[in-house]
Amino acid sequence: MQETQIVHDRFFIASQWVNPHTPDTIDVIDPSTGDAIGRVPAGDAPDADAAVQAARAAFDSWSTTAPHRRADYLDRIAHGLRERSDELARLIAGEVGMPIKLASAIQVGSPIAIFASYARLAREAEWEHTVGHSRVLREAVGVVACITPWNYPLHQIAAKVGAALAAGCTVVLKPSEVAPLNAFVLAEVIEAAGLPPGVFNLVTGYGPAIGEALVRHPDVDMVSFTGSTDAGRRISAVAGETIKRVALELGGKSAAIVLEDADLPAAIKGTLSACFLNSGQTCSAHTRLLVPEALYDEAARLAVQGAAAFTVGDPLQPGVRLGPLASSAQLQRVRAYIRRGIEEGADLLCGGAEAPAGLEHGFYVQPTVFGKVDPGSTIAQEEIFGPVLAILTYRDEDDAVRIANGTPYGLGGAVWAGSDERAIALARRLRTGQVDINGGAFNGSAPFGGYKQSGNGRELGSYGLDEFLEYKSLQCKQ
Ligand code: NAD
Repeated sequence: MQETQIVHDRFFIASQWVNPHTPDTIDVIDPSTGDAIGRVPAGDAPDADAAVQAARAAFDSWSTTAPHRRADYLDRIAHGLRERSDELARLIAGEVGMPIKLASAIQVGSPIAIFASYARLAREAEWEHTVGHSRVLREAVGVVACITPWNYPLHQIAAKVGAALAAGCTVVLKPSEVAPLNAFVLAEVIEAAGLPPGVFNLVTGYGPAIGEALVRHPDVDMVSFTGSTDAGRRISAVAGETIKRVALELGGKSAAIVLEDADLPAAIKGTLSACFLNSGQTCSAHTRLLVPEALYDEAARLAVQGAAAFTVGDPLQPGVRLGPLASSAQLQRVRAYIRRGIEEGADLLCGGAEAPAGLEHGFYVQPTVFGKVDPGSTIAQEEIFGPVLAILTYRDEDDAVRIANGTPYGLGGAVWAGSDERAIALARRLRTGQVDINGGAFNGSAPFGGYKQSGNGRELGSYGLDEFLEYKSLQCKQ
């Protein structure tokens, strides 16, 4: 997709572009071709240490900078990203494989809005208040390591970095090794915005190497992590040794429950969009469709018909709704799950493990729908992270709630019903962080996060700001 490779060979530490401690590098692969489009350093513990020291040195000054001054910097970052939005959309389409139009709206539009919203929140937040004879201050947690995944790379970075900077924390960002190029654009934008040295630092490399060095580092006060539940488990354990605050946004296996009085075609259409967005690589994707037994045949027919409308292909081509998966590892993983679903006896209604016709190169997979899926089977329990929908049936509302809540995850979900009131009544019974009511859309100001093994803490809006703040109470003489 890119004519020339984008090579980054230095880290952004204390507002300088500095050489890594090792010559090791990581290739960034375009998933639509399998070709390398860029290269970044594979840093290690000494690089983590240099970045943390810079962030530590900047902390006292940044955390005591007036919030409205911090807000001015955040506005400048939003502005700088906006100026480079076309370049970012192409870059992220190249790194992640998301169709360019969607990438531009979601992968670039959303991070800009998030930085702008944290500028606003920094200005509007109540930074201290009184409770009886105490004065309560809200203060920055300290140095934060932000460790992010590849699926919505800049959005996830913005949700962490925007909130942390607004709160007065200083940051070391370690983006995903699969899609790190956009983070260098952010570092360039931050450099141009003139943030004081050390307030934002960027290092790259593999999770178990430089990522874990950050988590282990005694001068890091908090880890804000988005990624897989397995990595989250490991990070929790390692961070526990130094009693760090840890915010975790992890995997999901979200259910869309369709009640018998719902608008079935709208529910199926909405569920397919929520399941197949970003080729199914969305943590809160609605990957299980729960329908009453009596509606199964019609639901299955509509789902197969709807899946056919998801044209798979080159993310740069107009009309393409499903790009490739982000990596060869993802492709192998998703194909293995599809084979497993067939072996475990689910009905393969459309799609399958073979590459879509004519797309044998690159990491493409067919939009796939399974019917009559057993709630306890692997494809109904584990996060697949590909365009694979499982249709399950339920007997009554209690059964639907039991099935929906019957995985270790609790991230997203949906309820489709004849009225919002009925849908909301059912949504109250779901052990999950967010539920879309009759097709309600994502809200960047509402809290986002998971119950159970989908993580802890919340991102976005004022809830996201809270994650990066400590409370200090001053008891004054009455
Ligand atoms: P991943 O866990 O493999 O990697 C995420 C990040 O963690 C990367 O930067 C990686 O280098 C780093 N990392 C891995 N092991 C580490 C360790 N031991 N110590 C420190 N850092 C480590 O996840 P991924 O494949 O990049 O992303 C996909 C996963 O992310 C899916 O499970 C998805 O559901 C989840 N996700 C969750 C949310 C959410 O908000 N809940 C959002 C997006 C993605």
